[in-house]
Amino acid sequence: MNKASAPAVPGASVTDGPLIIDGKATAEEIKVEIAAEVDQRRAAGLKVPHLAAILVGHDGGSETYVRNKVLACERVGFGSTLLRYEDDITEAELLAKVAELNEDPEVDGFIVQLPLPRHISSDKVIQAIRPEKDVDGFHPMNMGRMVAGLPALLPATPSGIVELLARYRIETDGRHCVVIGRSNIVGTPVSILLAKNLEHGNCTVTLCHSRTRNLADIVRTADIVVAALGRPEFVTADMVRPGAIVIDVGTTRVADASKKSGYTLKGDVCFAEVAPKCAAITPVPGGVGPMTIAMLLQNTLRAAKGDVYPR
Ligand code: NAP
Repeated sequence: MNKASAPAVPGASVTDGPLIIDGKATAEEIKVEIAAEVDQRRAAGLKVPHLAAILVGHDGGSETYVRNKVLACERVGFGSTLLRYEDDITEAELLAKVAELNEDPEVDGFIVQLPLPRHISSDKVIQAIRPEKDVDGFHPMNMGRMVAGLPALLPATPSGIVELLARYRIETDGRHCVVIGRSNIVGTPVSILLAKNLEHGNCTVTLCHSRTRNLADIVRTADIVVAALGRPEFVTADMVRPGAIVIDVGTTRVADASKKSGYTLKGDVCFAEVAPKCAAITPVPGGVGPMTIAMLLQNTLRAAKGDVYPR
């Protein structure tokens, strides 16, 4: 099934198997669009966007994410800077680095890769980033503007999910979307975006978390399921109604001695049993993950252009 023939109405019968929502290919499309705009800016003598990333410590997952972000910058023609610090950097030292990047005219946007060591407050660090350079979209100013429906640098993973639904022409209007997980970086913002009166919103959203009662019963009522809880293969076939759209945000490294890396990346959805039952589903890897990076690049371009906060 191709994008144009994607089921517009969740619940529609699927005769030729589920649509596999290809986040990798969609992210590539977006990168091509961004690279073309960067070329135009360069040709017009305008500044090339520059993304900086701060990485603290040596967490394997964080190293991979940051490396992929830097590679993605090169791919679209952005400038990039990776600043690495050891685990024992103090909170004050890290805040000083953030202040430096805030003032650096070359840097249009920057991220501080989470999680941070326990002795550093992520909240303090996020709040120290100037909202106009907060390309992860985690600063309360950007979150607040998103809630108020004002232009904002939107959090990358939630906006990547909305973008995937939009580019695959999956109808959201009036549909019941159940989001599992209420974190500030995924569950809560995606529930807000999908409930907004926007072209790719207007869902009726139920936001579930670890204290939700009868979770499986609620998920079974969903036209669209967004699983963002970080519990490998939590969503099983019996929890999903036939014809649902399933978006799997989870990425958990599970030990796997048969792999050279020593692990397998698992989503929050048991793909093997859920996929045959649903209308469309994102795989892990290759679903939401690549879209997160594409939206980070898009935010950096918007920051460079002063789209949200005019320069
Ligand atoms: P998080 O901060 O740990 O939040 C997890 C959320 O899930 C919490 O709200 C928690 O509820 C809820 N939860 C946990 N166990 C539950 C259960 N048994 N039933 C119902 N709800 C439950 O995680 P996160 O940062 O949002 O990340 C979630 C997953 O997405 C992780 O696997 C992460 O690696 C992945 N992720 C992927 C991307 C990407 O680009 N693909 C980006 C970000 C995150 P409480 O609030 O009640 O504790």
